Amino acid sequence: MKETTKAIRIQTDRTQHGEHATPIFMTSSFTFQDAAEGQALFNNEIEGNIYARYSNPSVQEFIDKVCMLENMEAGFATASGMAAVFAGFAAHLQQGDHLVACQALFGSAHQIITQILTKWGISHTYLPSSATEEEWDAAVQENTKMVYLETPSNPGLEIVDLEMIGRIAKKHNLIYYVDNCFATPVIQKPGQFGANLIVHSATKFMDGQGRVLGGLICGTKELMEPVVFFCRHTGPAMSAFNAWILSKSLETLHLRMERHCSNAEKLAAALEGVEGVLKVNYPFSDSHPQSALAKKQMSSGGALVTFELDGGFERIVRFTQLLKIPSKTSNLGDSRTTITNPNTTTHSKVAPEIKADLGITEGLMRVSVGLEDIEDLIEDFKQAILGSK
Ligand SMILES: *Cc1c(COP(=O)(O)O)cnc(C)c1O
Repeated sequence: MKETTKAIRIQTDRTQHGEHATPIFMTSSFTFQDAAEGQALFNNEIEGNIYARYSNPSVQEFIDKVCMLENMEAGFATASGMAAVFAGFAAHLQQGDHLVACQALFGSAHQIITQILTKWGISHTYLPSSATEEEWDAAVQENTKMVYLETPSNPGLEIVDLEMIGRIAKKHNLIYYVDNCFATPVIQKPGQFGANLIVHSATKFMDGQGRVLGGLICGTKELMEPVVFFCRHTGPAMSAFNAWILSKSLETLHLRMERHCSNAEKLAAALEGVEGVLKVNYPFSDSHPQSALAKKQMSSGGALVTFELDGGFERIVRFTQLLKIPSKTSNLGDSRTTITNPNTTTHSKVAPEIKADLGITEGLMRVSVGLEDIEDLIEDFKQAILGSK
């Protein structure tokens, strides 16, 4: 079966009631037939649910679908994307270890790497997405344990060469950890390039309607074992309700991504050359410096478009006041178009020199293009840009 069919058809076994949709297993614990079964479950002699901090059928259905989409052996679902990102670091890194990462990262990932891991004696080297293979190679130290990156990045939509990093990871025997949130497994599968640990903020496109928080980390069985151990005992588990929402949403992920991406491509093209727009950034646009690389590793350009508006923050304020359809919110991956100014919101805490490197300027706007009619969106953006002069 194709993955589009499996994303719809993978389902928790039906109960004796024959329900069509999977029930939400709202229970904190699970019962044993007798004391012997309890003992066997706790000794890992048999598989089964014990306690919802460990596992839950609603959550497992969501995990199974994402593992299928990413072609990974095992996974764990968490209450948020950041809990999953952190679990990957915390389970695998220890005092004295070193991490090599692309600096074009989600704001909170920066905070973990620079403010939390450093507190525990875990050091890092940041490289720009433009770094060459030789530069990545040279950044690897004797104590380097992991390479971490995000592509396309938030908000710069910078592309990191997954195949090239795969060679570096293999050569130095590093854990190859990728945040695949922006692309989703529908348009990019990092595992094809050697990534063995993949993380998602399910809050974004996997939910697709801006309702719940969620995260998921998946990888090889071997690498997931310490992650599952860490999560089971520290407690970032996803709730059954959120898992039920997210698993249902995966049934339409392929369909939604198709429309998200085609709308984004059209909006990016329409914004090019509009008076007051200094620069438009979209991975599959010819004007994107890494469009060839993007086309090599992604099947479409994604749903995010950024552009830079001339005229400073006051212009941004006027523009957002005139813009009628998009929601002004920091979230993304919603069926409704959302827009934010990263410099003053999602990335406001990032150090100024790193911001400059990431192209986070005062006038940068990040758009997560939704599923609305594209003609309506283009018309609305144009009137708000021209009207805010
Ligand atoms: C949103 C986001 C996260 C964090 O996810 P939460 O669900 O908000 O915790 C991590 N990485 C990327 C790329 C994101 O966009």
